[in-house]
Amino acid sequence: MTQEGVGHTMADKGGRPRGPDWAGIVVDDRSKVERVADALAAKIESDSMAPGSFLGTKTQLRQQLSVSPATLDMALRVLVDRGLVTVRPGVKGGVRVAEPDTSALHLGRARWRLTGSEVDAERAGQGLAIYFALQPLIVATAAHALTDVDHTKLTDIRDQLHASVGDPQAYFTVHRTVHDALLEATHDEVLISTVQTATAVADAGTGGPEPPQGEDVAAYTAERVAVHVDIVEAVLRGDVRAAWLRLRDHGVTQHDIAADSALLPQGFLDLQRFWREVTG
Ligand SMILES: [Zn+2]
Repeated sequence: MTQEGVGHTMADKGGRPRGPDWAGIVVDDRSKVERVADALAAKIESDSMAPGSFLGTKTQLRQQLSVSPATLDMALRVLVDRGLVTVRPGVKGGVRVAEPDTSALHLGRARWRLTGSEVDAERAGQGLAIYFALQPLIVATAAHALTDVDHTKLTDIRDQLHASVGDPQAYFTVHRTVHDALLEATHDEVLISTVQTATAVADAGTGGPEPPQGEDVAAYTAERVAVHVDIVEAVLRGDVRAAWLRLRDHGVTQHDIAADSALLPQGFLDLQRFWREVTG
């Protein structure tokens, strides 16, 4: 709740007191889903389970983990998106450890298809790590340095984001524009050139971000649009803390460490783990 919200207790026409303005307050149960997904991922990692290993049927897993069918389904979807497990229906079905996907660099739910040599791939991992690790600095610096021109531009981009819901191609185009505009709004030449270098090596080794395979693309873009709109709006109103907290969902910290690409530097994975711990 915002500080402004606390003082806004007014009476309605019937004289009953009215609570604060709840616009923008979102309650979700993601943390439970994430905890279940993390528990399964940790089991796969700690037991060093080989690709193809059987984890159980959905019914067995639901009973073992004492969770509802809906929670298990959402947790499994998270793990499927991250390339960690496969889920097959039927008598011989069940949940198994997935074969690793070596054709792409995995970072959270998005995947960057590898297009170059092994060296290009390794450099792409380093570039993406720097790009993601600097996002908190970028949004904070932009929030402080924002000019009227930036404000107009970012407001326009926010509207383009809204318009791209359900159209992944439009979304990924606007997505790039969002990040470019946020970076420009920092007016920090050193930061700008550092991030441009990181982005260039990521571009040289990959085909750019793609939506996770096997997922409802419309739902994916809707969720990604919401995350970016919130970050842009937080920057527009100078709320650095809100922008940082939403960056958690952007992908700086939400990742399933075990499933992330081996191409990502260990220091970056440590940073993600720390962020995730401190933001709950
Ligand atoms: Zn983004």
